[in-house]
Amino acid sequence: MTATSKWLTTAGMYALAVVIAGPLYADVSIDDIKNDATTVDDVVTNGLGTQGQRYSPLKQVNKENIANLVPAWTLSLGGEKQRGQETQPLVKDGIIYITGSYSRVWAVDSHTGREIWEYDAKLPEGILPCCDVVNRGAALLGDKVFFGTLDAKLIALDAKTGKVVWKKEIDDFKAGFAYTAAPLIIDTKAFGPIIVTGVSGGEFGIVGRVEARRPDNGELVWSRPTIEGHVGMLGGKPSTMTGTLNETWPGDMWKTGGGSTWLGGTYDADTHLIFFGTGNPAPWNSHMRPGDNKWTSSRIAIDPETGEIKWGYQATPNDGWDYDGVNEVVSFDLNGRKAAATADRNGFFYVLDRTNGKFISGTPFVEKITWAKGIKPDGRPDYDPAFRPGDPKAAADGKKGKSVYVTPGFLGAKNWMPMAYNQDTKLFYVPSNEWGMDLWNEPVTYKKGAAFLGAGFSMHPTFEDHIGALKAIDPATGKIVWQYKNKAPLWGGVLTTASGLVFFGTPEGDLKALDATTGEELWHFNTGSGVVGSPITWEQDGEQYIAVVSGWGGAVPLWGGEIAKSIERLNQGGMLWTFKLPKKTAAN
Ligand code: CA
Ligand code: CA
Repeated sequence: MTATSKWLTTAGMYALAVVIAGPLYADVSIDDIKNDATTVDDVVTNGLGTQGQRYSPLKQVNKENIANLVPAWTLSLGGEKQRGQETQPLVKDGIIYITGSYSRVWAVDSHTGREIWEYDAKLPEGILPCCDVVNRGAALLGDKVFFGTLDAKLIALDAKTGKVVWKKEIDDFKAGFAYTAAPLIIDTKAFGPIIVTGVSGGEFGIVGRVEARRPDNGELVWSRPTIEGHVGMLGGKPSTMTGTLNETWPGDMWKTGGGSTWLGGTYDADTHLIFFGTGNPAPWNSHMRPGDNKWTSSRIAIDPETGEIKWGYQATPNDGWDYDGVNEVVSFDLNGRKAAATADRNGFFYVLDRTNGKFISGTPFVEKITWAKGIKPDGRPDYDPAFRPGDPKAAADGKKGKSVYVTPGFLGAKNWMPMAYNQDTKLFYVPSNEWGMDLWNEPVTYKKGAAFLGAGFSMHPTFEDHIGALKAIDPATGKIVWQYKNKAPLWGGVLTTASGLVFFGTPEGDLKALDATTGEELWHFNTGSGVVGSPITWEQDGEQYIAVVSGWGGAVPLWGGEIAKSIERLNQGGMLWTFKLPKKTAAN
């Protein structure tokens, strides 16, 4: 055998070995999901664990060496559909799964960045997304990838091929329903693993609900409406009514009551409870629906075995400011107490007892809040009536109620972008925005598929030099330990690590790393478009990787008003970026 042919034979064998050992698909078990927060070689849930702490035990990338962090590879999401990339990647067995704008999904080789397959839901005409064409991530189980679409379908794809295994209609997109959240997969005694999802559409007078389905065929297991008076489903039959009819809603207003569950949920195995937040009551004009309007602008805990509400906490009763209470409920240990924290659009950071929903504390995390003077010991807000927009019926022309300037603005002290909790510093890292709005009420009647607001608004920054502010909050005291200001509004998720780092993206295009203890900036990298996605980290072949999807968009450029000035020069995009430390060179 000549040297050349021997070389060819070896190369041929090597190629064969790569084919056999190469990426097939991420085979995710229910135990992988249960253990996700502590296993460093994969990220198989939204939130790096179902509790949603977004905390990684990895320490290889640390304060001393992060200055050396460099890109490993990138992947363009392609097409002309480049906007609003709010996803969080998932990774296992050498494959990354990401979703993108316009309801698309990719499987990507995590070693090379090469695309394995792409699925495009090819949306119909007439979809009604309120707040850009975003998708916030997929879920994995077995050999399937699950995600929801802007035309309100829940789809299971074959993880190997990207082909549709099953597709279920969540509801009628022509009525305003859509789906943008990452589904949640958990285990139950009664049904085995279930996929838990919500609905978007609170600006169209839909009724919010949380639903569980079977992963193998998408069949409905249970459904729980968030609005009092509506009846749930269990085992294919009507189950129980949510609340008591007309207790906190007048007349027929509950029938189009909102309370959408558009951000998805978290799950805590210690209490075996699913936590969901609920959006604004519909319409925005609060004078049309006197009462607390349960369970809108609230947090609810649901029993996964029955779909029953075990407890609820309403952050903004009779909400008149679009203070959706959808923000994630993150379980954590508060000096031995089973607590959960949630940073509300209304500007207050809440700590609750997650076993029973009991209010522990509610403290402001943005400045100059006006709609409430504070949170009373019983957990209800201390409203300032001067900052409730007036009833249009009281206006001379009956068309425009008294306008008020209120802080925070409706886009929220914190919007969808998820915070992180670090188990070592015991701090929450909350991406927040400092802004207010002019807000007034108008008459409105419900019409299927039409915006059901009864309000007009205009957003304004609170300060000249910044809108965004990443805040480190001590949940034991509610004190802000440090803050990192950013000129443009923050709109992406946060990641924190055991090595004392905090990662987050900015609309200006940077992925940044801060010192988790001091807030000092240690590293940044410009990704070429605004970062509104959520970063992850995992270990692969002994190296720590960090990944984030870049691509400016989301609600801010659509609804920004005067704040658009801080963002008008930002470019669209769609790119998956991965980073790692360089391998030592031969010279070393
Ligand atoms: Ca993991
Ligand atoms: Ca809303």
